[in-house]
Amino acid sequence: MGTAGAEGKADAEGKDGCGQGAAARAAHPRDAGGELSRGQVVAMLGDLRRTLRERYGTADEARFDAGRSDEARRRALVVPVRFHVLAAGRAGRLSRAAVRSQIATLNAAYSGRTGGADTGVRFRLAGYDVTNKAAWFSHPRKYQGVIKRKLRRGGRGTLNLYTAAVGSDVLGFSTFPQWYRRSPRMDGVVIDYRSLPHGSYRRFNRGYTAVHEIGHWLGLLHTFQGGCTPPGDGVSDTPYEASPAQGCPDYKDSCPQRGDDPVHNFMNYGFDSCMREFTPGQGRRIRAAWAAYRAAGHGHGRGRARERGSVDRGTGGAGAARSVGGAR
Ligand SMILES: [Zn+2]
Repeated sequence: MGTAGAEGKADAEGKDGCGQGAAARAAHPRDAGGELSRGQVVAMLGDLRRTLRERYGTADEARFDAGRSDEARRRALVVPVRFHVLAAGRAGRLSRAAVRSQIATLNAAYSGRTGGADTGVRFRLAGYDVTNKAAWFSHPRKYQGVIKRKLRRGGRGTLNLYTAAVGSDVLGFSTFPQWYRRSPRMDGVVIDYRSLPHGSYRRFNRGYTAVHEIGHWLGLLHTFQGGCTPPGDGVSDTPYEASPAQGCPDYKDSCPQRGDDPVHNFMNYGFDSCMREFTPGQGRRIRAAWAAYRAAGHGHGRGRARERGSVDRGTGGAGAARSVGGAR
């Protein structure tokens, strides 16, 4: 009940005052218009550096990466995925085959098989369930608290991936690893069911919405984060970019700093046909954020005391609140 009227504009109320409107909708951005403030970004990057330093003795991601054992470097980091399909009758009811195809797409993208760097991350389907609930399916942001309370499984290293009718203006939303300490139960990624490989979302149906949103879940920011203003996305080999790529520009160089805009990067906003790569620096960021926030063995003894000590200096209240109500 109540869903028929909302059909087709399921997410119109979900902008949360982000101030983008029809223009954003027409442009089909990947995720919600609300961007992180510079203060939030600085706090998140600082939290990562501090956590790395406390746990591993260095905040330098390249040095941290080099310091890993040979075995750790050889072995891919395999993320178990709990795939939660929300449906309203037949609508949204993705088959196990569709889900497997999405997992294969993730593995191709994160291993560098589509282009760019191998991030060292792989994904393994660890659970598949279908929940037939029209309200949840049509309003996944409004109900995300109850949805996640009911369906979420595993700990900080398990990816809970939900599909639903996210909306016509936004393709998905995610939490960041920095938010886990404060909001573990909200951890996860929600994407539109039409964005999967061979889905019905025109120009966004190669499964790269999941690749992009999971990039956030793994600690990546948008390549256009902060425009031309430092620290941008905090990754050294993704050049500064004044604004998101729309569609698929051949070439863009929108900032005075060195380097052309990374229009083909998965953390940009181009069409799926335009996206193909992560950079080596993004791979290092992912591995560092994993070690800091999602690796097994955290939350015990010394680690827990350290965690508690850094919570309030971390992402701050605004970020935590966004993980509940907002989206990106
Ligand atoms: Zn995004």
